[in-house]
Amino acid sequence: MTTIYRTETVEEQVIQDVKCNCCGESCFSLGNVEALSIHETWGYGSPFDGQVWDADLCAKCSILLNDLLTSHGGGFDITEVTAWGDPIDSDKETNG
Ligand SMILES: [Zn+2]
Repeated sequence: MTTIYRTETVEEQVIQDVKCNCCGESCFSLGNVEALSIHETWGYGSPFDGQVWDADLCAKCSILLNDLLTSHGGGFDITEVTAWGDPIDSDKETNG
């Protein structure tokens, strides 16, 4: 069997920018989207049944949201990770 190839040009949509839903600033940093993305499809029994909520928050507004949550006794669950996204075990001794 002989495989015959052809070259095609394919148009592709790429993300040009993501704007923060709070302040409107760009969420791009060093060519990457750095945003807290929130997505919820509200279901039966919620006050928003049948609605989908989406938002992206820049780092600055994410801090403000975390401050709001913290002021109400909550806050984000935050895990320190390596550059590869692996969790850093905070229980390990690293100084020696
Ligand atoms: Zn923002």
